[in-house]
Amino acid sequence: MRIFVTGGAGFIGSNFIRYVLSHTDDVRITNFDKLTYAGNPANLADLADDARYDFVKGDICDGDHVAEAIAGHDAVVNFAAESHVDRSITGGAEFMVANVVGAQTIFDVARKAEIPKFLHISTDEVYGSVDEPDSFVEGDALEPNSPYSVSKAAADLLARAYRVTYDYPVTVTRTANNFGPYHFPEKVIPLFVTNLIDGQQVPLYGEGKNVRDWTYVIDNAAAQWLVLTEGTPGEVYNVGAGNEITNAELTYAILERFGLTGDEAEERIRRVQDRPGHDLRYSVDTTKIRALGWEPAHSFDEALDATIEWYRANEGWWRPLKEGGASDRRGLVSADSTRA
Ligand code: NAD
Repeated sequence: MRIFVTGGAGFIGSNFIRYVLSHTDDVRITNFDKLTYAGNPANLADLADDARYDFVKGDICDGDHVAEAIAGHDAVVNFAAESHVDRSITGGAEFMVANVVGAQTIFDVARKAEIPKFLHISTDEVYGSVDEPDSFVEGDALEPNSPYSVSKAAADLLARAYRVTYDYPVTVTRTANNFGPYHFPEKVIPLFVTNLIDGQQVPLYGEGKNVRDWTYVIDNAAAQWLVLTEGTPGEVYNVGAGNEITNAELTYAILERFGLTGDEAEERIRRVQDRPGHDLRYSVDTTKIRALGWEPAHSFDEALDATIEWYRANEGWWRPLKEGGASDRRGLVSADSTRA
């Protein structure tokens, strides 16, 4: 099987590629990635000599290049996107280009090239916010509230159009918040962990009451692989581990792992102005993917421990991203950054 992965130099894509190549012998992967600020070849440096892995620098909006590179593949997994909600609030245009035009371009090229399988990676944010105790099922209406989630919802609807109009079965997964190794340190967990390694404060949005379902990226990689290989083409699958906690609970869980409790913990929290339009709670019903046989292999606590350990052991990976030092990646992250 030859898989064409887009955005594989980013956080989830690189974990997916590593997961697939370490669980199979006969799969070859082409990683097609534009290498934006979030795309980092170092995420897959350990695979540089693996004959099953190829890298092509390219933009999914460039239909001619995609058509040339995609030929001969049996499946596409489209991770490529602008992914940071806060950036979409300060400037949404790049999100519409990559996440909408890019998705339409690659759906179309893959359809014309008759690639048999197409998995498009979406997000639980397309449904919008939901009050407890409800959770969204796959057929629910899409009510996205940020420019990022609108761009992802637009691609989901394009996937629907390719299924209905062209009979091209684009499968969609709507995934909850991921965390784990190789997570760009503008996002909340790696930002907080790296700030604490450096003895700094952590910036918490508003009262910290927003609820997210935290899913370990390696469990998500397993879910995406299962949907690609065993899912029904053209279906939508929610993916989430069921670890719903508030941002405040998440913050205290991280602080505790740095030995900070009580007043010491409070002193490390700096409350910052809330994100505009901040969805209060994301929650998806995952009955459908669990019926395929998926369940998270890691508890939230062990995954958080492993993640913190990874950031402690891999300063050489994250420090240049945070400080813009040795790397050519932009040092866009300050200790004050707020995040998804
Ligand atoms: P990321 O920002 O870490 O990586 C995105 C990758 O896409 C980068 O390597 C970047 O270079 C590449 N890219 C961007 N625009 C491109 C283009 N036009 N052509 C080719 N490559 C391009 O993102 P991530 O967190 O790994 O997210 C991957 C996917 O999963 C995205 O579609 C995102 O919307 C979705 N998702 C992410 C989360 C999460 O918690 N991170 C949750 C749900 C869904």
